[in-house]
Amino acid sequence: MLKTQRPPLDVVVVGAGVVGAACAYYAARAGLTVAVVDRGPVAGGTTGAGEGNLLVSDKEPGPELDLALLSTRLWRELAERFGAAMEYEPKGGVVVSATAAGQDALRAFAAGQAAVGVTAEEVPAERLRDLEPHLAPGLAGGFHYPQDAQVQPALAAAHLLREARRMGAELITGETVTAVLRGPDGAVRGVRTDRRRLDAPAVVNAAGTWGGELARLAGAHLPVMPRRGFVLVTEPLPRIVRHKVYAADYVADVASGSAGLQTSAVVEGTPGGPVLIGASRERVGFDRTLSQEALRRLAAQAAALFPVLADVTVMRTYRGFRPYLPDHLPAIGEDPRVPGLHHACGHEGAGIGLAPATGLLISEQLTGKRPELDLAPFRADRFPADTGTDA
Ligand SMILES: Cc1cc2nc3c(=O)[nH]c(=O)nc-3n(C[C@H](O)[C@H](O)[C@H](O)COP(=O)(O)OP(=O)(O)OC[C@H]3O[C@@H](n4cnc5c(N)ncnc54)[C@H](O)[C@@H]3O)c2cc1C
Repeated sequence: MLKTQRPPLDVVVVGAGVVGAACAYYAARAGLTVAVVDRGPVAGGTTGAGEGNLLVSDKEPGPELDLALLSTRLWRELAERFGAAMEYEPKGGVVVSATAAGQDALRAFAAGQAAVGVTAEEVPAERLRDLEPHLAPGLAGGFHYPQDAQVQPALAAAHLLREARRMGAELITGETVTAVLRGPDGAVRGVRTDRRRLDAPAVVNAAGTWGGELARLAGAHLPVMPRRGFVLVTEPLPRIVRHKVYAADYVADVASGSAGLQTSAVVEGTPGGPVLIGASRERVGFDRTLSQEALRRLAAQAAALFPVLADVTVMRTYRGFRPYLPDHLPAIGEDPRVPGLHHACGHEGAGIGLAPATGLLISEQLTGKRPELDLAPFRADRFPADTGTDA
C-alpha cells in the first residue's frame, strides 16, 4: 500500500548528489520542510565519480563565472563549519603555457576575468618553480589563481545532507521517483516513488545527468546528455603537486561542444597522497567501456607537465558521466512551463564547484526571495523541443 508523508512537505528534492545536497541544506536552513529522494546511495551518481576542483580560473566572464564566484564565497563559509571533514583546501590554481602566444592568450583571458572579480597573478617562467618545484622546464609562464580550491565531493554531499537532516530534512535512499504528480492546473503536487507518494507544492530536479528524464516525467523538455570523463589515480606520493595545475588548452576543451574525445590534464595532489589526473571529455552516451586512448593521453599530458610523474604507478582509474546541456550552462530555477518544478541540474564538469550557489538560489526562489543572481540565463525552457537527448 502507498504511504503518504506527514507532516506536509514544502519541497521534495530528487537526487542526493552534491547539488541535491546543497539544495536540501539551504532549503532546510531557510526553514522549509524537505525530503530528499535518491534511487541509490548518497553521492552514488556523478558526484561520487568526479573530482573536487572548485574553479574560477577556467571560466570566462558570464553567468557561469557569476555562479562560480558566488559559490567560492559560499564554499568558504561552509568550510568554516565542515572544512576539514570535506577536505576543503583553498590551495589555488596554476595555469601554465608552453608558448609565448599561449601566455598572451592567458593574459587576455585573465584581464577579462579580473574585471568581474577574479584574482589572477601572472607568473613569469622563472618563477613558476617557486609555486610548483616539479614543473617541467621550458614553460613560457603561467597564471596563479588563488581563489581556486578543492573539496572531496562525496564527503561534501554527505556533510551537507547530514546538516540538512539535523535541521529536520528527511533523506530517503534506495527509492526511485517514477512520476511527478501534477494538479489540474498543471502545477506540481509532489512525486511518486516505487514505494510511496510524497506530496509537496515544489519538486527540485537535482537528478544530474538524469535530469532530462526527471523533467520528462513532469512533461518538460530538458536535453541533459552524458559527457564521459576518466580520471587517473596514482599511488600515494609525497606532496609533489601543490596547486591544481593545468595547461592553457584545458579552457578550450571545457568550452567545446564537440562529441569527440578531448583530453587536457588537470593535475592535483590530495590529502591522502594520491595524485589525481583528470579528466577526459567525450559524448558517447552511458558507455562504461575503458578508453585506453583517453587514459594514455591523460598520462602523457600529466607527465609533460610534471616529468616526475612519468615513473609513478597509476593504481586505478574511474569514470563518470557529466550532466551536459548544449550551451554548457546548468538549468537553475522554476520551470515556466511547470509551476512548482525547480531545476538544479546540468552543471556538466563544474557541479561540485557550483553546488552551493545553486542550492542557495533555489532556496531563495522557493521562499519567495529575490535570487541573488539573475536566473534568466539558466531557464530550462531555453532549448527548443527538437534538441536531442542522445549521446
Ligand atoms: C571525471 C569527472 C571529473 C569531474 N571533475 C569535477 C571537478 O573537478 N569539479 C567540479 O565542480 N565538477 C566536476 N565534475 C562534474 C561533477 O561531478 C558533476 O557536475 C556533479 O557531480 C553533478 O552533481 P549532481 O548532484 O547534479 O548529480 P549526481 O551526483 O549525479 O546526482 C544525481 C542523483 O540523482 C539520482 N537520480 C536520478 N534520477 C532519479 C530518480 N528518478 N529517482 C531518484 N533518484 C534519481 C541519481 O541516483 C544521483 O544520485 C566531474 C565529473 C566527472 C565525470
